[in-house]
Amino acid sequence: MADRTRQTIVVDGLALAQGIRKQLAEEVGRYAAAGKRVPCLAVVLAGDDPASASYIMGKQRACSRIGMDAIERRLPASASEQDVLLVVEELNLNDAVDGILVQLPLPEGISANEIAAAIDPAKDVDALHPTTAGKLLLGTPTLAACTPLGIIEILDHYEIEIEAANAVVIGRSNIVGKPVSLMLQRRNATVTMCHSKTRNLREVCQQADILVAAVGVPRLVKADWIKAGAAVIDVGVSNIDGTLVGDVDTDGAMGIASIVTPHRRGVGPMTITMLLRNTLTAYRARTGE
Ligand code: NAD
Repeated sequence: MADRTRQTIVVDGLALAQGIRKQLAEEVGRYAAAGKRVPCLAVVLAGDDPASASYIMGKQRACSRIGMDAIERRLPASASEQDVLLVVEELNLNDAVDGILVQLPLPEGISANEIAAAIDPAKDVDALHPTTAGKLLLGTPTLAACTPLGIIEILDHYEIEIEAANAVVIGRSNIVGKPVSLMLQRRNATVTMCHSKTRNLREVCQQADILVAAVGVPRLVKADWIKAGAAVIDVGVSNIDGTLVGDVDTDGAMGIASIVTPHRRGVGPMTITMLLRNTLTAYRARTGE
């Protein structure tokens, strides 16, 4: 039986996100008050996936709440790769646009990699361009993927020691698993990356001081996978009959983990907040402000 004597903190990702957004709003407000153009995020949606439509609306709403501009470009589900590339090119050339985000998934037949590679790296707020990804690998300052940035913010806010920690990351996507592994390694954690072919996943996780689950398998991480005192970050979101479920058995983690992110109001609000921060960073770099 697991020792459940610990006081586990349930991360309040929403409160943390709101605090950061307030600071961002103040910074954007200073540009507006000085009569300057405010930062602008462009979101591109191809197709009519309702979840994607709701995500881009959330992103635009988040921009306007902190005084940033947001524009959108919508294309039908029948759009070709060339159609999307043309829109990206138009946004690349638009001097009033600081960040470009192309919502995934794209309609069948359109390569997400080709589209990402067409985005001007200076506007690559989703950090999927090969140059942006390469800079993260090399440790050169760069825009970086939003969810991983949010995870590092959470760990820092809750004063989780990253240096020399054993960090286990489950999932190796370009958007979460790989970049968060690199960021943790850069902060001197000893990182193990796991995936669908990893053997003895439970035993590997049991060694983790920091455990990041970015898989999309509901409640994959059970109580007996978690080391006493571990910081547990649940990135996964699965829709089970209309209910959203994370990758971690959060109830099971209570009393064992030091901190755990809930699947709602955990990592999600921080991801959007880091998108806003990336847009402000891109604006500053582009305008020299
Ligand atoms: P993905 O969906 O591209 O890939 C999943 C990864 O999990 C792969 O690397 C695969 O090897 C690994 N995997 C699959 N089954 C496994 C198993 N049984 N054991 C171990 N590893 C396994 O990854 P993604 O795009 O990073 O998304 C992962 C999850 O995170 C999804 O549920 C997604 O919705 C969610 N997500 C949430 C946010 C957020 O802001 N909250 C952001 C991005 C992704």
